[in-house]
Amino acid sequence: MPQLSTRITSLNEGGSDGWEVFYRARALVAAGEQVTELTIGEHDIRTDSAVLDAMNASAQGGHTGYAMVPGIAPLRAEIAARVTARTGVPTGAANVLITPGGQAALFAAHLAVLDPGDTALYIDPFYATYPGTIRAASGVAVPVRTRAANAFLPSAQAIEELAFEHEARSLLINTPNNPTGTVYPADCLQAIAAACQHRDLWLISDEVYDTQVWEGAHLSPRALPGMAERTLVVGSMSKSHAMTGSRIGWIVAPEPVIERLIDLATNTTYGVPGFIQDAALFALRTGDGPEAAVSAPFLRRRARVLEELARHESVTAIPSQGAMYLMLDIRRTGLSGRAFAEALLDARRIAVMPGESFGQSAAGHIRVALTVDDDSLVRAIRCLCTFAREYADAA
Ligand code: PMP
Repeated sequence: MPQLSTRITSLNEGGSDGWEVFYRARALVAAGEQVTELTIGEHDIRTDSAVLDAMNASAQGGHTGYAMVPGIAPLRAEIAARVTARTGVPTGAANVLITPGGQAALFAAHLAVLDPGDTALYIDPFYATYPGTIRAASGVAVPVRTRAANAFLPSAQAIEELAFEHEARSLLINTPNNPTGTVYPADCLQAIAAACQHRDLWLISDEVYDTQVWEGAHLSPRALPGMAERTLVVGSMSKSHAMTGSRIGWIVAPEPVIERLIDLATNTTYGVPGFIQDAALFALRTGDGPEAAVSAPFLRRRARVLEELARHESVTAIPSQGAMYLMLDIRRTGLSGRAFAEALLDARRIAVMPGESFGQSAAGHIRVALTVDDDSLVRAIRCLCTFAREYADAA
């Protein structure tokens, strides 16, 4: 067959995509084995039935044709009002593009700001798709490394130095963070904002976990002085409303950026199904109740897991403030995150994500998703700690 593009063949840099343990766990489950899966960021509840009723009513009412490419007007207005209320930044419907999920928003945002071969910075550890998304947009993906000892917060100086060295065009950040659960404090975001202004970078701010903050408060960097004009915010209904499968998200950006992104959407996705948008509108108009109900189990389970971890010395949690994960330091075992995750799956049938799947900065760590019922989760963590202890004692 003819040759494929280097863009597509080099998405994973010819290596792995980091999801091997997850695939192996799924294969074991398919073969009938019992596995406690603490891998992907998917809730153990499904989309609320009232939202599904709204979706069905919309589809039955005829909203199954092409929808407006930028998004239906009332949904764009609703998201604009929500963003204005939560950030204080005046935001209108013309600042909002509806996308098929946050993932498509991340891709469109990078396509909007990068020319082929331009460097896009992103913070390591990172959500597993980030480098591939940048490469899909023909960008050069350059990680900004962070340290566990500093709660994986990025240094503005490192951002500035890498931006200068690579003549970078953009920086991608994610707070609350997947995989670390870190919520960037105001001083960190201010320093990042200053670096972006100093080096004239676009800031792509992935805020898909903004409803899952357990300590402190979520601050959108778009609200910092001088940042609204250079920030593209990525949002999504996936995590906030347990609507992962509905594929609905958005970009909030300056109006001229949204105008160009609408051109892009016209020539790529051609928008999001109308009945999905109507369901999202219904969910958002229901107020804060449903999203609080969706996030509550993660706060509760996080407390239970931290309580359990306090009883063990073999594994420690990285201090975190949000999102549906905990990052655990397993370096006392002497194993890599990958080796530990593989061994744990083999020996105990518990599946976790190796830290290395999220970048070099997370080596020697594992990420656990708080996505199984409370008692099973605590049992799995206890078992994981005992397992780690056997290695730590031998190390
Ligand atoms: N950003 C982050 C940090 C994520 O964890 C995810 C999904 N796990 C996404 C974006 C994409 O989410 P979706 O496309 O479902 O909105």
